[in-house]
Amino acid sequence: MPSIDTLADRLSSYLAADQVNLVRRAYFYAEQAHDGQRRRSGEAYVTHPLAVANILADMHMDHQSLMAAMLHDVIEDTGIAKEALTAQFGETVSELVDGVSKLTQMNFETKAEAQAENFQKMAMAMARDIRVILVKLADRLHNMRTLEVLSGEKRRRIAKETLEIYAPIANRLGMHSMRVEFEDLGFKAMHPMRSERIRTAVKRARGNRKEIVAKIEESITAYLQREGLQGEVIGREKHLYSIYQKMRGKRRAFNEIMDVYAFRIIVDKVDTCYRALGVVHNLYKPLPGRFKDYIAIPKANGYQSLHTTLFGMHGVPIEIQIRTREMEEMANNGIAAHWLYKSDGDDAPKGNHARARQWVKGVLEMQQRAGNSLEFIESVKIDLFPDEVYVFTPKGRIMELPKGSTAVDFAYAVHTDVGNSCIACRINRRLAPLSQALESGSTVEIVTAPGARPNPAWLNFVVTGKARTHIRHALKLQRRSESINLGERLLNKTLTGFDSHLEKIAPERVQAVLGEYRLEVIEDLLEDIGLGNRMAYVVARRLLAETGDAAPSPDGPLAIRGTEGLVLSYAKCCTPIPGDPIVGYLSAGKGMVVHLDSCKNIADIRHNPEKCIQLNWAKDVAGEFNVELRVELEHQRGLIALLASSVNAADGNIEKIGMDERDGRISVVQLVVSVHDRVHLARVIKKLRALNGVIRITRMRA
Ligand code: MN
Repeated sequence: MPSIDTLADRLSSYLAADQVNLVRRAYFYAEQAHDGQRRRSGEAYVTHPLAVANILADMHMDHQSLMAAMLHDVIEDTGIAKEALTAQFGETVSELVDGVSKLTQMNFETKAEAQAENFQKMAMAMARDIRVILVKLADRLHNMRTLEVLSGEKRRRIAKETLEIYAPIANRLGMHSMRVEFEDLGFKAMHPMRSERIRTAVKRARGNRKEIVAKIEESITAYLQREGLQGEVIGREKHLYSIYQKMRGKRRAFNEIMDVYAFRIIVDKVDTCYRALGVVHNLYKPLPGRFKDYIAIPKANGYQSLHTTLFGMHGVPIEIQIRTREMEEMANNGIAAHWLYKSDGDDAPKGNHARARQWVKGVLEMQQRAGNSLEFIESVKIDLFPDEVYVFTPKGRIMELPKGSTAVDFAYAVHTDVGNSCIACRINRRLAPLSQALESGSTVEIVTAPGARPNPAWLNFVVTGKARTHIRHALKLQRRSESINLGERLLNKTLTGFDSHLEKIAPERVQAVLGEYRLEVIEDLLEDIGLGNRMAYVVARRLLAETGDAAPSPDGPLAIRGTEGLVLSYAKCCTPIPGDPIVGYLSAGKGMVVHLDSCKNIADIRHNPEKCIQLNWAKDVAGEFNVELRVELEHQRGLIALLASSVNAADGNIEKIGMDERDGRISVVQLVVSVHDRVHLARVIKKLRALNGVIRITRMRA
């Protein structure tokens, strides 16, 4: 059982005597505060904070973190106020303790929400002082190590949370050792049988592999020495959880995974890394396409190393990692490695620390944009599993993006405004689809246009949380302003029928109606109308309630301009185009759908003023409209080309083409053509009629 004295001994190797004394004082304070409390295992409670402090001492954390570790459950479990801690140990330590407590004490409706909420708080805490999260991680690690005494259900809940939230965070902060321990302990608690089976299998395999491992290790060492290079060669094993995940995710057999021999070479300096790489490539043939230089381009969590895979004797694959001692520390401890070198934590943040802060900053920005916690966690979950691609801006800056990212993700990563006004992209100087997944090493250039807007279809392919959140945000804003605009026009049109206008209605009356609907401002009401959630006719009558029940004079139709945006759509069943007689059907939440006046689908509600509204086309209606044509013609060679060139000659655009043969002689072609209006359509049809062999052309309407 480690005592405060053994800890103090260890601490004096890297902390000043007065700092060690402060840690001691915090310990005795905690011992007294928790007096009489016991852990589930029966031990005195203070053994837990002491163990947490020991974990942090392994990481050479500063004295303030260690003091916070000693006191981390005091506010939560003993009712001692934060102010009392401030008086005793100063502002910084009490802030740290408070931060850790806030992460611990949370109650939520649903589990998913709890995790999302947890995560946000953690991110916020990190932004203020990253040490809060390190103390929290150490706390969780000790709880995981002593998980056995808990009941089955509680154990599984904690294990699941650890796998879903804490392990990815440790990974993101580059703390490999901690992540591996979280994962193996979590795996054991969630799936004790599977974990045990894999553990035994690994042990057995280790025996069989011993000889080969020793042989490879020897020859690598000998080769390094011959070249005069100092290097330590270590055989590596995959941890249980990663073996399990590989077996599940990639559906590989245990033997296939274990068939790989993995080594790490630790050298003195960067230059030696590359020379050692030369040596091993000389010893065994490298597998093409497997070499990765994470020294020149570190991973997003700060990880640096050279990776290569070799064909060993008898063709066994050998994975090699080459790195310096310092990179090794970083790879194992990540952000915490910062403290391994600096004992006073007040230094300007740099390196890993800066990277982690950068990440936290990104998380917080997203959080501000995302409406609720679940949407938020959906966004960040993706960012927690970093499988990156590296691409370049036209100026040569390196951007890291998650695997599968597209040019739109890239655009949002460069800047929100670039993303929002993006219209096209060039990948390696060639125009490419915005949806194309980017590959490492590509140069990506974004073409923007002022006034351009995000396309809802982008949500189908973007990968990064940042892009997703910003697109949703922009669409939300756009939809609101468009709904308000349409709602106002609808309402005023109806009011005109009653010989009134929104401006003519007394503000008190408007307020009263808003009150009835429990809405704050008139814009909310107009938005509701525009979205089809409230009927303009009903609202108009409410607004006019005081003036009696005068029957409306005949409604003048509302003019459609084609620029209404997301709140107006054209019915797929009858595809109206400008010039056609039309009506609007108000569909709750979706806004207005424009149908042909003669469309069968709306025949029943056609004259219901609460559901349908008279429309006509504005003179200067904008846009392209799709219509479907059915062309019957005699079968001939090059038929499609002929049709296409006729449509083209009439300035029309073919959007879609389909064909079925009725018999050997007659073909029926379905064309979806985009046109400006009926006059334009007539021109297209005229051109098509002029073709040889055309028998009949029909415009399709449901
Ligand atoms: Mn604790």
